[in-house]
Amino acid sequence: QSTLTSKTKDPYPDWKAGEAVPYAALCTTFSKIELTTKRLEIMAHCSLFLRQVLRLTPNDILPTVLLMVNKLAADYAGIELGIGESLIMKAIGETTGRNLAQIKEDQQKIGDLGLVAAKSRSNQPTMFRPKPLTVRGIHEGLIAIATVEGNGAQGRKVAGIKKLLSAADAHLAGKKGGIDITKDKGGPSEAKYIIRALEGKMRLGLAEKTVLVSVAQAMVTHEKSVAGKASSTDDLAKGEQIMKSVYNELPSYEVIVPAMIEHGIFNLRDSCKLQPGVPLKPMLARPTKSITEVLDRFEGKEFTCEYKYDGERAQIHFVSHSSSESYATAAPQAGKSEKGISNIFSRNSEDLSKKYPDILAKLPAWVADTTSSFVLDCETVAWDTEAKKVLPFQQLMTRKRKDVKVEDVKVKVCVFAFDILFLNGQPCVNLSFRERREKLYSAFHEVEGEFAFAKHGGVSNDIDAIQVLLEDSVKASCEGLMVKMLDGVESHYEPSRRSQNWLKVKKDYLAGVGDSLDLVVLGAYHGRGKRTSWYGAFLLACYNPNSQTYETVCNIGTGFSEAILEELHTTLEPLAIDRPKPFYNHSAGNKDQPDVWFEPRFVWEVLCADLTLSPRYKAAADTAGGGGKGVSLRFPRFLKVRDDKKPEDATTSSQVADMYRAQEGVASGKKAGPSVDDDF
Ligand code: ATP
Repeated sequence: QSTLTSKTKDPYPDWKAGEAVPYAALCTTFSKIELTTKRLEIMAHCSLFLRQVLRLTPNDILPTVLLMVNKLAADYAGIELGIGESLIMKAIGETTGRNLAQIKEDQQKIGDLGLVAAKSRSNQPTMFRPKPLTVRGIHEGLIAIATVEGNGAQGRKVAGIKKLLSAADAHLAGKKGGIDITKDKGGPSEAKYIIRALEGKMRLGLAEKTVLVSVAQAMVTHEKSVAGKASSTDDLAKGEQIMKSVYNELPSYEVIVPAMIEHGIFNLRDSCKLQPGVPLKPMLARPTKSITEVLDRFEGKEFTCEYKYDGERAQIHFVSHSSSESYATAAPQAGKSEKGISNIFSRNSEDLSKKYPDILAKLPAWVADTTSSFVLDCETVAWDTEAKKVLPFQQLMTRKRKDVKVEDVKVKVCVFAFDILFLNGQPCVNLSFRERREKLYSAFHEVEGEFAFAKHGGVSNDIDAIQVLLEDSVKASCEGLMVKMLDGVESHYEPSRRSQNWLKVKKDYLAGVGDSLDLVVLGAYHGRGKRTSWYGAFLLACYNPNSQTYETVCNIGTGFSEAILEELHTTLEPLAIDRPKPFYNHSAGNKDQPDVWFEPRFVWEVLCADLTLSPRYKAAADTAGGGGKGVSLRFPRFLKVRDDKKPEDATTSSQVADMYRAQEGVASGKKAGPSVDDDF
């Protein structure tokens, strides 16, 4: 519920009805949000602003929402920000007439390029007052910058950034003095927020979920007030619930927001349903440390144990030509065959159709004649065509990611299907898993080496039988088992959730922390001895989605072959930056600084003996209960690069805290293991 009621004075200067939403007004809201940590207040600021947009300029609601979540389009459109520091500094310099050395010096001192831009802008009075920026104009400008390709792309990106910056903070043009960056975190400076948007991290403490709920609140209140009524608590709760469930099935503001305006929020479920072409975020599993833990958690319920294949998560969408169903138009790289139109999406909704044209080409052979459309949840796994068996994940990672030609494919893949989310025009997510599995089996044929159903054992709560299945899965080159609830509401497919109803049992990690961690590389230390030409060790972090920061969790120097170190040096060196990003939460101690800092780009899968508390690291320092000490990995070991994960998909701080607390010693009040300060 909003803490600002309708009695609260409207805090924004009105723009006239029908006029473009001023970007300055949105920045005022951003700055209010940035100055509080209270979730309800954040939500209130957000929904109040959205209400104003709905009242005055409803046509601008979509770009407003997109700027609030700092996305230019739905994930599957593949339009991303995250512009490198050097381009941004160049643009700031060229816009404000300051030289690069000055900008770099400021960056060293201030540490936040957004504030550097705000400061530079206010130092630079101009003769002419530029036209004020609008929300729509910023959204379009950012898209133009993000999508520039080809010859001279860098230069055109800089030109695009300059265009936005030169019109930023127009009200200051010609005035003496300007933005005081030491006060109120720089206040509502447009330049600051433009730069942060370009960097890909707004750091307002505004989680995407909060925006979603705020959109619902604003729309409910708006609709009711148009009808001359006040919105009740029930109305607000209903609107929120509709919005969340619709977004789970159809995570695309481009589809949902116009439908909400056209049909009203209370009718949204009828007009917005899971739709082939729009990938949904997959359901994820929780780690477990023993088969007995599985039995405890699922006590009295029927469950099934499937092999956990070690490949790449994929969501395949298909609509046959003969069907009258529509295929979402925004799907970027749809593959066409004689049977229909299809796409493959990754776990983070990236379009993988260019990586797996061989799968799209073979797909018609496995689709039953009665199947007109589907959304399939599956794992693509490298396949040894001679030995007719699964190959390790590393083989799959040697495949090119883009512009693969079917005839050039060397590493063959087999698709192992484990769930169906949509079939023949109907979403299946709200059916039980038992029913979904039946549908899955009826909709496809197995084709050796191309398509198979995930192998599963009989329903059993016999510990020995599960142990045998686990051993068999490992012999078949799988990672272990996925244990899933079979019946009732609990077994429904829960998009985007790490659910209690899917448990993973990984053979290698039993009795350890139950799982490996996927961590972001923030820095490196120069190698010594045999490793002098490369980096010898690295600083890793987990991700805190609430604060949009990376929290350091360990140093790592084990598990790397010389060949890997050489390769990592080549890929990481171009990402070096002069100083840590303001959204790196790391220890300030002198001896804790790595020799080199990097842009956050790579995610590595890492194994450890256990988790402990350490004052040198920041992971979950606020929540793990360690009195401000961070959680850290003991004896971390590098396993592999996770090319299929973005830094934002890394293990989160709350997962790290959960894993720490789940350790036996911690749960019983004893401290886990001695604190380790240096792991290499
Ligand atoms: P990791 O893959 O390292 O376990 P993750 O964060 O990628 O972690 P989890 O939810 O933890 O994902 O584990 C589930 C993953 O296992 C799925 O994303 C999918 O890629 C893979 N998988 C393999 N076999 C199955 C299966 N039978 N059912 C569900 N997922 C499976």
